[in-house]
Amino acid sequence: MKHRINEIYDRIRKAASSCNRETESIRIVAVTKTVPAERIREAFAEGISVIGESYIKEAREKYDLISGIPVSWHFIGHLQTNKAKYAVKMFDLIHSVDSIKLAEELDIQANKIGKIQKVLIQVNLGKEKTKSGINEEDAPDLINKMSCFKNLFVKGLMVIPPFYDDPERVRPYFSALRNLRDSLKSSVDPSLIKNIAMDELSMGMSGDFETAIEEGATLIRIGTAIFGERD
Ligand SMILES: *Cc1c(COP(=O)(O)O)cnc(C)c1O
Repeated sequence: MKHRINEIYDRIRKAASSCNRETESIRIVAVTKTVPAERIREAFAEGISVIGESYIKEAREKYDLISGIPVSWHFIGHLQTNKAKYAVKMFDLIHSVDSIKLAEELDIQANKIGKIQKVLIQVNLGKEKTKSGINEEDAPDLINKMSCFKNLFVKGLMVIPPFYDDPERVRPYFSALRNLRDSLKSSVDPSLIKNIAMDELSMGMSGDFETAIEEGATLIRIGTAIFGERD
């Protein structure tokens, strides 16, 4: 694992320098779905500081096992409204807000525990029926409504693009997410709206993170390249 992680750091440095970005502006979210607690500890020892879980049930099972390790927990899967209460307890950042209903429930649950919950808006840029996320044209309206939720802080956008082996075919989705982020950011007046920042772009996985970095990714979600193939 050490070797794999070091290789990823190298590739991030190269990708960042090829487009004149600071390596520090890119964070690895180590995707730990199906990965047991011992291996998460190992990854932490190699410098991994953010983990991404996709299922609430699995996250709850692991949470206590690794509560002693100071990693930041991110939620990257589809979140059902009735699981919002668990999500706000465990996760520093929820990447997958895709409806007002979910935002509303997260706001209520975050308020209950006195937390400002950081979130990203997931956008379904490929308009795939099987994937979660809001459609691009609905994003401005959702962002607008998010400004009312006192216990939510919108940090940016996330995308899971259609699957292609060739990263060049994924690139248009990454650049589209960046453009959408830029346009939403410019539509928000920071002197009036304090809970929408729009700086983060969660995009890129094991097969295409370099392309995502070239297109502005700040959070890259990497599973297989760190932990090997999942069962
Ligand atoms: C599983 C998963 C990943 C990691 O994919 P790899 O190809 O293993 O790097 C990234 N993002 C999301 C949302 C995932 O569910």
